[in-house]
Amino acid sequence: MTVYNGPVFEMAAKQFEVIADYLSIPEDERGRLLMPKRAVAVSCPIHRDDGTTAVFEGYRVQHHLTLGPTKGGTRFAASVDLGEVAALAIWMSWKCALVGLPYGGAKGGISVDPSSLSRRELEALSRRYMQEMIPFVGPHTDVMAPDMGTNEQIMAWFMDTYSMYQGQTVAEIVTGKPVSAGGTLGRREATGRGVAHLVSRAADELRMRLNGATAAVQGFGNVGSITALELHNKGVKVVAVSDHTGALHRPAGLDIPRLVEHAASRGSLEGYSKEHGLDAEDLLSLPCDVLVPAAVERVIDAKLASNLRCRILAEGANGPTTPEADQVLERRREEIFLIPDILCNSGGVVVSYFEWVQDLQRLFWEEEEVMRREYQVLDRAFDQVSARSKRDNVFNRTAAMAIGVERVRGAKETRGLFP
Ligand code: NAD
Repeated sequence: MTVYNGPVFEMAAKQFEVIADYLSIPEDERGRLLMPKRAVAVSCPIHRDDGTTAVFEGYRVQHHLTLGPTKGGTRFAASVDLGEVAALAIWMSWKCALVGLPYGGAKGGISVDPSSLSRRELEALSRRYMQEMIPFVGPHTDVMAPDMGTNEQIMAWFMDTYSMYQGQTVAEIVTGKPVSAGGTLGRREATGRGVAHLVSRAADELRMRLNGATAAVQGFGNVGSITALELHNKGVKVVAVSDHTGALHRPAGLDIPRLVEHAASRGSLEGYSKEHGLDAEDLLSLPCDVLVPAAVERVIDAKLASNLRCRILAEGANGPTTPEADQVLERRREEIFLIPDILCNSGGVVVSYFEWVQDLQRLFWEEEEVMRREYQVLDRAFDQVSARSKRDNVFNRTAAMAIGVERVRGAKETRGLFP
């Protein structure tokens, strides 16, 4: 029993056990690697527009501080709880280590449906959350970023609130800010661009032509919409997309640029077309070359894993596949090429790192430089995962997580156990 108990934390713990067995990590060393270093839960009261007071629960978990500050997004969703936040923080640690960033993993969130708040209420809640976090975070302790349900505007409110308390602008406290508030060019697109770039690396490995290939994308927020657009720009026919309001399917390919515009102006896919409706449940099992879950965790269970009909499974979301599904996918690894989440969506944290570096140096890069460096980091990580999976004849998730866990373990061993 831990305070983190819950299905998402259990999933992160199970995944870690698989890797720890594979790496033969002694039992008495496992807790030190898996259990989060620190966690905080806060109550965030705000005035509602109708004059009442509402209180929302917020969390932040810092997994380990061995390699530098912790880094991780902030999720605003009704499902958020301490266990989910802890699992996401742990995944961030393996991800940062895999791509070679000087960070540990963190995550935070508020248990709230942001669509139930007015803009003023959302600003009040964002600012109150950051104010409650001030004793816990800092540009050299823990750096926040966006995740599901949060965006550039919320990051700007976080940064402004922190800065007002410091009496000076501290842009480096948060990444994913608007460019006008110290953000970097290319951050908003970074995760989706990275997913599409890695899909093209996987296609090369499979000797599969992307031009004319088909794709289905679950989730049409920051990650899903940009991934769909980038794939579309590479000549891929995106035949299905979905969000929390429903799904669309057109075998000849959807008009992704129009859908992106629609979602940007309406906030969702709702109302786009009655003609191309699809049962959202069916999207993940559609026959397609590239399948991109880019919404929430645990959407692919063992049964669905047996029914997947894609060639490349590109995990844009964090934790979309359960450990039971992993066992199926491991058996199907000759049929389905997995790009595991900690590699697939790591473009986001890579460019967040670039934003932090630019903010610390007050020296800003051109977008071409951001993209070139992002792809360079992703290519190196992809090559390492690919080489490891071939060397040890293991599944791509095992290879990716093993590299991440080994690096954190190596740093802990070198630094020693204090005192
Ligand atoms: P977002 O809030 O911008 O978008 C989430 C999308 O998922 C929305 O379109 C929403 O309608 C949809 N959605 C929610 N529940 C759904 C369901 N049950 N079925 C289908 N669609 C559903 O969030 P995001 O930033 O795009 O994050 C998506 C995923 O990517 C999350 O797992 C997040 O942790 C991960 N991620 C995000 C980033 C980033 O830079 N934003 C980086 C790495 C990983």
